[in-house]
Amino acid sequence: MAVLDHKGDKLDIRIMKQVPKVIFGRGSFKKLPEVLSDYRSDGYIIFFVDHAHKKTGIVDQIPAEKDDLVFVIDTTSHEPKTDQVDELRDGILKTKKGNLPALIIGIGGGSAMDISKAVSIMLTNEGSSKLYQGWDLVKNAPIRKMGIPTLSGAGTEASRTTVLSAVDKKYGINSDQSMFDIVMMDPDLLDNVPEGQKFFTGMDCFIHGVEASEGSYINTFGSAYAKQSIELCTKVFMKQGGTNDDLMVASFLGGASVTNSEAGVVHAMSYGISLVLGYRHGLANCIVFRQLEEFYPKHVPVFFKMLELNNIKLPDGVTKKVNKEEMAVMTKMTYRMARPLTSALGENWKDILTEEKIASLYAKM
Ligand code: ZN
Repeated sequence: MAVLDHKGDKLDIRIMKQVPKVIFGRGSFKKLPEVLSDYRSDGYIIFFVDHAHKKTGIVDQIPAEKDDLVFVIDTTSHEPKTDQVDELRDGILKTKKGNLPALIIGIGGGSAMDISKAVSIMLTNEGSSKLYQGWDLVKNAPIRKMGIPTLSGAGTEASRTTVLSAVDKKYGINSDQSMFDIVMMDPDLLDNVPEGQKFFTGMDCFIHGVEASEGSYINTFGSAYAKQSIELCTKVFMKQGGTNDDLMVASFLGGASVTNSEAGVVHAMSYGISLVLGYRHGLANCIVFRQLEEFYPKHVPVFFKMLELNNIKLPDGVTKKVNKEEMAVMTKMTYRMARPLTSALGENWKDILTEEKIASLYAKM
């Protein structure tokens, strides 16, 4: 029998790391100072918080003490980049004269949480974060970290990936070392999310569930997570009375489902759209997903219904102005996603998703 972790292609036995401590419930964010008191004796704490929370007031509620560092991260212009993470790491080591923190906390959507994950790894691993993009490349144990999602869907809070963009690729640091040690889920924190953003990030979650459950890398664990995640997402976006509590749990389970399976054709193609055209992950997924009914015949019609019920209009013709070189970058990016594509389409995925086929799908978007 093949004994496998995350590296091979015959996945009969899986070793999966889970988030060891989850704090869930409305009002839990107010309890943060109590939670942190367990870690204070080990040193200072670093907070990475999404700049959107200057407006919501969360920045002012961060229980930082005098030695702590608070970074307000601007996530509007781009998703996390390798250079950005390297600079943050270098700056922290310089400011603190090499003294490492007791805990790192990411407060925000996928971007702020991914930055906190990446910095936790890079404070104990040498060189550029570029060196660790890939599967199980992290050598040293990271700094302890905590995720506090204020936007739900990406599943970053439960996943073993830290997605970063470099110049020529958007790729994850896929490693158990990317996983949070603590996740605090307070549905009250979702109250200020604009509807459009809630939809696109929520669809990322729906798509994680779809890709995980339709892929051949799925196992019983992943399937249970995916099924429940899809059900909760459906409750929210098919307007069946779903709440922020439902969405928050859906996101966590969606992240866990991908950890126990793989993404699929949607993610393999949406990374190219984000890399070349700069569309954010959730929206890029939606732009791709609506053209992939041939691969996901059961779910794309449901997605169209969700668009309609939530009054969402997707942009058309986004690839119209893409030139030959840019199309080559997008195609190359898709071809890097061998694992999700193998899970979705089988070992011979290159025969199905030929370069011409990829180009023709992109052209429709
Ligand atoms: Zn995603």
